[in-house]
Amino acid sequence: MCSCAFEGTREQLAEHLDQCKFEGLKGFLSRTDDLIHDLQEELKRKDDDITFLRSMLASLSEKVDQYEKSTSDKIGMSYGIHTYVGFLNVALQLSNNQVQMARQQ
Ligand SMILES: [Zn+2]
Repeated sequence: MCSCAFEGTREQLAEHLDQCKFEGLKGFLSRTDDLIHDLQEELKRKDDDITFLRSMLASLSEKVDQYEKSTSDKIGMSYGIHTYVGFLNVALQLSNNQVQMARQQ
């Protein structure tokens, strides 16, 4: 048998093996086959890693979104309370002024 698809008698094969370019490349082709196989496996591992990292990224993005939302809610609430306290202070100031004005009359 030859590395190529040659078919013939035993005598023809012996003659063919002497001149077939594929037979000379047998070792190289075999190593190339092994290399391609290794690369395909490595590629598959990397695809799996990418799939895993993508799902990780999606879940982390979701957590960050939730965290940002809850943080901005807290900031909004705190801002609301400060505004409310500020408003109460102004109202208190105005009513004190009115009391003083009433006393002066
Ligand atoms: Zn051949």
